[in-house]
Amino acid sequence: MTTEKDARGVDLDIKDAVEGYQRFRRQFERDRAFYKSLATRKQKPRLLWIGCSDSRVVPAQLTQADPGELFEVRNIANCVPPADATDDAVGAAIEYAIGHLGIDDIVVCGHTGCGGIGALLEPIPPGREAHLGRWVDYTRPAHKLMDAAGVAGAGRLTATVKAHVQFQLDNLMTYEIVRAGFVAGKVNVHGWVYDMETGEILAYDPEDGAWRGLIEAHGGAAG
Ligand SMILES: [Zn+2]
Repeated sequence: MTTEKDARGVDLDIKDAVEGYQRFRRQFERDRAFYKSLATRKQKPRLLWIGCSDSRVVPAQLTQADPGELFEVRNIANCVPPADATDDAVGAAIEYAIGHLGIDDIVVCGHTGCGGIGALLEPIPPGREAHLGRWVDYTRPAHKLMDAAGVAGAGRLTATVKAHVQFQLDNLMTYEIVRAGFVAGKVNVHGWVYDMETGEILAYDPEDGAWRGLIEAHGGAAG
């Protein structure tokens, strides 16, 4: 692994981050009242966003959310391990979001071209990258479904991405706090897929199993 350095031997990736931070500090000064209100009040985010770690899929950009509005879990391939799985990171965020922050909407957002979903399409060398291998195994149900349905070719990856989101919605219901909230009509779950080529978000409709444009799915939000 090589790190790009300038003539003085400064790491250019870190230099970029520090320069960005300097711009942020100027912005912080301009919006001081807003940041002070964030710091002095309890957070009250509107959504629990469970999305992919992919650097190109930025939740606050897609929803134009300000700091304080999204409670986020990002992991490879936007997985929600079932409640009885050995991972606690997602379950802890779910329980905190609903139980402590009073969040009533959970979005699971996948995206086209997801490398985490694509991982199982290629053999993973046994013994190497053990954590990665175990993690992407959470995408296996969607792959099995595609195999069973005989989905192949160019559309296979996107179809798997969508099926995987639907499985994660099912997995959300394995958490008692989600299931109870959903049954009581207090918690809603939403399955979305962001198309990186067109910028469009598609939303899953559990009523008829269709995927529709997010704006259409929500009755054409104004503006
Ligand atoms: Zn991804």
